[in-house]
Amino acid sequence: MSGSHDAPLTLGLWLRMAHARLAPVIGPDEAARDLRRIAMHATGLSAAQLGIGGGDVLAPAAQAAADAMLAARLAHRPLAQILGAWPFYGRSFHVTQDTLVPRPDTETLIELALERPFSRMVDLGTGSGAIAVTLLAERADALGLASDISQAALEVAARNAQRHGVAARLDLRHADWWDGLAGVFDLIVSNPPYVTQADYARLAPEITQWEPRAALTPGGDGLAAYRQILGGLGPYLAAGGRCLVEIGAEQGRDVAAIFVAAGLVDVAVHADINGKDRVVSGRRGQ
Ligand code: GLN
Repeated sequence: MSGSHDAPLTLGLWLRMAHARLAPVIGPDEAARDLRRIAMHATGLSAAQLGIGGGDVLAPAAQAAADAMLAARLAHRPLAQILGAWPFYGRSFHVTQDTLVPRPDTETLIELALERPFSRMVDLGTGSGAIAVTLLAERADALGLASDISQAALEVAARNAQRHGVAARLDLRHADWWDGLAGVFDLIVSNPPYVTQADYARLAPEITQWEPRAALTPGGDGLAAYRQILGGLGPYLAAGGRCLVEIGAEQGRDVAAIFVAAGLVDVAVHADINGKDRVVSGRRGQ
């Protein structure tokens, strides 16, 4: 983007021109919010500095970076992928197009998992590693295994494990659910693909065009991954151990039934911060 006359382009002017282009595409509020983040990333200014730096001339390199990020956002790329990092449970996670962007909904699963002690956990379909890395970072004595069918996702998870100092306690494995995994765990967690085939078609382009489809939907009724995880967990769940999975808001009853059919007890459906059903939990009896 260039100024229409000879005056140098200031940060404030860039923000106004960028907003005029992005607001019609993603809405004025989200455009304003995302452009501030893009401007901070491109210039290295903090939020406070940005507030007082609107009259600063935008250096050519910063302008080129900001323009490239604006183009990506105009193409519906999620801000998290543009910035390359996104917060989850108070930590910053490396994010690429190979994994889901960590979502605040999933923090519900973290809080429930941390309500009781655990020493060996497994995270199936770990993606960015947000769940496994967070749980190990929060519980310094615990060991973990995290699997994914995507090698590219495992590389992202490995970077996040390094970033948060848990790599020595996290075993990352290329696997299709339980296939080829070994061990006995007192905590099994997963945020599997659960969007139904029909719902997937209605998701925002930020999701369908930029996030991995395999991380979002197993097709059909959206329950296939739960059937695999719960159907196979027999040898892996210690007596007294817990299993927690993230679910879609309408899936509580169906997933709870899959837990009960797998022989788990104390099966419960938990709501997230927005009051939507988000996690099913269960326990193996002693
Ligand atoms: N909550 C995600 C979404 O609706 C879905 C995550 C998942 O399928 N595990 O975008």
